[in-house]
Amino acid sequence: MFAIGFRCGRCGATYDLDEVRYVCPRDGPEGTLDVLYDYERLRATTSPARLEEHPSRSIWRYAPLLPLRPETLRRVEGAGVLQAVGWTPLYRAERTARRLGLRAVYIKDDGRNPTASFKDRASAVVALKAIEEGVSTITTASSGNAAAALAGMAAALDLRAIIFVPHTAPEAKVAQLLIYGARVFLVEGAYDEAFDLTLAAAEAFGWYCRNTAYNPFTREGKKTAAYEIWEQMGGRVPDRLFVSVGDGNILTGLWKGFRDLTALGWIERPPILMGVQAEGAAVLARAWVEGREDIHPEPPRTIADSIAVGQPRDARFALRAVRETGGAFLTVADEEILAAMRTLAQEAGVFAEPAAAAAFAGLEKAVREGLMREEETVLVMITGNGLKDIPSAMRAVGHAARISAEIPTALRQLREAIR
Ligand SMILES: *Cc1c(COP(=O)(O)O)cnc(C)c1O
Ligand SMILES: [Zn+2]
Repeated sequence: MFAIGFRCGRCGATYDLDEVRYVCPRDGPEGTLDVLYDYERLRATTSPARLEEHPSRSIWRYAPLLPLRPETLRRVEGAGVLQAVGWTPLYRAERTARRLGLRAVYIKDDGRNPTASFKDRASAVVALKAIEEGVSTITTASSGNAAAALAGMAAALDLRAIIFVPHTAPEAKVAQLLIYGARVFLVEGAYDEAFDLTLAAAEAFGWYCRNTAYNPFTREGKKTAAYEIWEQMGGRVPDRLFVSVGDGNILTGLWKGFRDLTALGWIERPPILMGVQAEGAAVLARAWVEGREDIHPEPPRTIADSIAVGQPRDARFALRAVRETGGAFLTVADEEILAAMRTLAQEAGVFAEPAAAAAFAGLEKAVREGLMREEETVLVMITGNGLKDIPSAMRAVGHAARISAEIPTALRQLREAIR
């Protein structure tokens, strides 16, 4: 294993891997930990060519860059969907590029993961970490997708999953949890409250806690998307990348992956990272605009449930990721998100849930506001599948027309309807 320790994102203190479990003891949950690697040793034993030869089309092809022991990684073999996490398709969206006047627009469709969201990457790594820790029960708070991913991965590894989601979570996500056999508790509160409840429950019952950013390995799972982008683009990275932001952990995961590639000397620098938030859940975007390091939590209000976060847990790293790559935070209105769901589906054939379409809405806004140059190559990270939230999709498009089953009547109706 090439992971060698942790560094606190707040005070900079470093720790051995077995010295702390979740966050910096000095700073508490604000001191999220970054996993450190021995890049020199990595560089000496692995190479892009060696990665390319790897037979597995999944995140496990990046095993040397993951903080898991070889004997833990052997558990992936035979463990159901765990084997299929990642290596999601990357498409070129030519029509979109032409309409927006950009050199190229790429879409990475993480809705194509086994449980249909980006969260499989984190939950897969953290579920294996639970096994390494010798714990058989794993818990998480989630707006829905992280939990669905954890429930699926736990089922595949025969772990018990105990889930806390807001009682307002979309029905499809709750159905996923139940069908995977998780114990599900619908919290009478928002995601931020479920988060704190989960910390307390994990502590009280001795469960392993997956909570986003609080568990330092969620970011490590999420970083694999950056490696895939680099490999799928033939050893290059886009100029600019748009991603939707709730806790900010996908954003920092992507940044981490690109920083790893930079440290290994395989790319020159990470892409410019653009964080997109919903107008009604824009704590990070507001801190960004006001040039603050600290965040002012606010109750979230948006149809994009997966980014309905009032107290982003990876705030410090997320602000740094955007600043250090020369990016920005943007906000988009719910109406813009619904419109983006339609456009993305009708222009590229990709059906995204609202939180995922927010990233695409962010790209359109950045173009509209003249934030980009024409020669740019852009990537939009699509983080979750549209089938996870049917009511929002129906809101985006309205209802379908009925037609008679009697052919003469139907033809008359068609003559009126299709002009
Ligand atoms: C979780 C999630 C996000 C946001 O990820 P954060 O790490 O919370 O910023 C975006 N889109 C979808 C579909 C998600 O499930
Ligand atoms: Zn600290």
